[in-house]
Amino acid sequence: MTKRGSSNERGYNYKWQKARRLWLLNNPLCRYCDEAGYVVRATVVDHIEPHRGNDELFWDQTNWQSLCKSCHDGAKQSEEKKGYSTAVDENGWPIDDNHPVNERDKKAKKNRGGVKKL
Ligand SMILES: [Zn+2]
Repeated sequence: MTKRGSSNERGYNYKWQKARRLWLLNNPLCRYCDEAGYVVRATVVDHIEPHRGNDELFWDQTNWQSLCKSCHDGAKQSEEKKGYSTAVDENGWPIDDNHPVNERDKKAKKNRGGVKKL
């Protein structure tokens, strides 16, 4: 293993560990599971928009979401590849507004004040 990471980077990690622990205390449930109607404890703080090393995105809490491991490893990864989540609700309808089937309803949905289309 090559030695990398300045003291600055170590501080960064420590700050993140503290921040994510606090976040999970305040946001203890997996967001995807919650949207699908399941109560599942989240263990991962995920960046909604991949930060790719961008400091601002990384620390922007509006860009954070709590996920359980299986959602993070499953749905989230396909989301990053495709640009949308393949997670579905209990009716099998994709949850993500960016999913192609939801795209066409987006505008109408907004006009109706975000009422869920089933
Ligand atoms: Zn989950």
